[in-house]
Amino acid sequence: MRAAKSPRGVPPNTSHQGDIHISGAEGLYPLSAIPAVIRKYWDRALKHPRGEPDKVVITAEAIKRKPRRIPALPVSTVISRTPEEGKAFAMDILLSLGITAKAAREGYATIRKGGMRGAAIISGEKGIRLEPDRRRGVRVSRLGIAPEASKLLASRLSRHRINTSPVKEALVLASKVIAHGEVIADLCISDDPDYTTGYVATKKFGYVRIPHLKERGCSAGGRVYFVREGCDVNALMVYLETTPVVIGTVSHCSGTRSPYEILNSPDR
Ligand code: AMP
Repeated sequence: MRAAKSPRGVPPNTSHQGDIHISGAEGLYPLSAIPAVIRKYWDRALKHPRGEPDKVVITAEAIKRKPRRIPALPVSTVISRTPEEGKAFAMDILLSLGITAKAAREGYATIRKGGMRGAAIISGEKGIRLEPDRRRGVRVSRLGIAPEASKLLASRLSRHRINTSPVKEALVLASKVIAHGEVIADLCISDDPDYTTGYVATKKFGYVRIPHLKERGCSAGGRVYFVREGCDVNALMVYLETTPVVIGTVSHCSGTRSPYEILNSPDR
């Protein structure tokens, strides 16, 4: 689903050029669930805190290939009280994985600028933007979670009172992204002005939620995928956009931990 608004004074048209992104959503579902999913996406498009769209496009496509099954990343939450603390923690994680300060700063600035529909791809060493369409970014699609894994995930997240759609959907998305060997880290801040928790996801540290990563009321957000230098960007984009992937197993979900604990005993 894609919901957008034309810039003020410009009538809605069929091209996406110049549109202001309101919201988007994607998933893999059995045919029988499609009518309910369309209803859910429709409600989401029209009720997004970023405003009312004047164009909503919902596309349904049959998947011909059997989805690849992957595990979900482990989940934890770092103790962080301010956007500055959250940013410092995210930077520590990125630098600990060999991403340069230049690339990390470029990624963070891209997210804070906002206005993208998808994610930016940034090389982890030189900090260069690699996706061909910078305004659009890369939009990860064809991803889902198997019903039994979804149930188990809900019960594990409930123990920490974080069994919410934003957490579950972002975890599925980040797990698909990190399952690709060329992606070192996924950094995200929501563009929803009421949702201030961001995350950093990596193979080593799992999916780490970062509360208060932006100021309430701020509509700028985005995602950045830091990749290995020399990564085949076209192959990565094909994987992210078109390879069907389903979460088949769930990893552990822990509660809040200090930045020190997370950085020093990552996989707990
Ligand atoms: P959200 O977490 O839905 O608030 O999205 C935050 C930002 O992440 C958006 O502004 C987009 O830039 C990006 N984003 C959202 N969904 C996707 C996706 N499926 N693939 C890549 N980037 C996305």
